[in-house]
Amino acid sequence: MTRCRLCGSAALASVVDLGATPPCESFLSADQLDLPEPAYPLHLRVCTDCWLAQIPPLITPEETFKEYAYFSSFSTSWVEHARTFVADAAQRVGLGPDSFVVEVASNDGYLLRHVVDRGIRCLGIEPSVNVGAAAREAGVPTLTEFLDPATGAAVRAEHGPADLVVANNVYAHIPDVVGFTQGLRSLVADDGWVSIEVQHLLTLIEENQYDTIYHEHFQYYTVASAARALASGGLSLVDVELLPTHGGSIRLWARPAEAAGEPTRRVAEVLDREKAAGLQELSGYAEFSARVAKVRRDLLRFLIEAAERGETVVGYGAPGKGNTLLNHCGVRPDLLAYTVDRNPYKHGRFTPGTRIPILAPEQIAADRPDYVLVLPWNLRAELVEQLSFVHEWGGRLVFPIPELSIVEVKS
Ligand SMILES: [Zn+2]
Repeated sequence: MTRCRLCGSAALASVVDLGATPPCESFLSADQLDLPEPAYPLHLRVCTDCWLAQIPPLITPEETFKEYAYFSSFSTSWVEHARTFVADAAQRVGLGPDSFVVEVASNDGYLLRHVVDRGIRCLGIEPSVNVGAAAREAGVPTLTEFLDPATGAAVRAEHGPADLVVANNVYAHIPDVVGFTQGLRSLVADDGWVSIEVQHLLTLIEENQYDTIYHEHFQYYTVASAARALASGGLSLVDVELLPTHGGSIRLWARPAEAAGEPTRRVAEVLDREKAAGLQELSGYAEFSARVAKVRRDLLRFLIEAAERGETVVGYGAPGKGNTLLNHCGVRPDLLAYTVDRNPYKHGRFTPGTRIPILAPEQIAADRPDYVLVLPWNLRAELVEQLSFVHEWGGRLVFPIPELSIVEVKS
């Protein structure tokens, strides 16, 4: 990677080098286990001119999203998050029976179904063929496309401008951040709103969430760098909310520059926090690499000692980010016999790179392991409750991040 994808600068400084890993959503079927598996360098750098943190765009979204394994509706907390969002957004934007809402990367319709329920016209734009088909079956109109300026203009010509454009958990997934932002601008009405949720680099750094760095996330935003990215497509940041999702996300509210007006106090407050954390200079990034190395040592020490005591450890969840953690730490089935996932698509498959079998969740109660390593640590509250049944045989939950913690669950 030689140039910053937002500002074109050549001044890119290393933040953390996680080695070479396969694409984190490329779960293997049994007949792929004897085939070669490509791995790509996973090296996070930050541009010292615009401060956009980024990894090299080695895997195109077309490769990732052709057949995507992530169905948002499998997470109870995501569905609830979406319902609350739609209620709040309807109030802020003043959505009524004549409004039009577009969601980009609408997945299986987990969010837009709440818009449909309110009788508001909507359209999802979702690149994955299999996931988009699930949305249409659930009654959510969905177009199978990637968003770029041409798609945005075509949708506007056919359906009219959108009063609200939602782009949640996608703004990091597109290497052409400028073209994507221009696409958002062509979708939205001149007095409309754009709402974007994306992981916050401030909490990623502060809370050591390095497993959320993977090939499908091309860039990592502060509010400062997100505002620059929005401006590249003619949008102005108006407001920001801090959310607990993904361990810490930002919800950006933007409008076409000519309609935007002054940003709120909250924008200034978050920008101040980012500046105080040193994220507009190299000092804020300096310690991160050493803290990442400590997560690896602590997890390996725990797994090796458990194995030597003859105790059993299995995984819970097979999220994409689990694969950054497992690959970076070098955890294979001798240390983690299997993991389980609620998504039946993954059952009988293997984690990329580390080749750990993925089974159905019922396996845990059948085997009664001593420890369950929770890979989607960001859903901690939800999972401590869901997995409380391990208490029956004295099992414990292990959370690897922000630092290794072992949780004794109560009945
Ligand atoms: Zn830059």
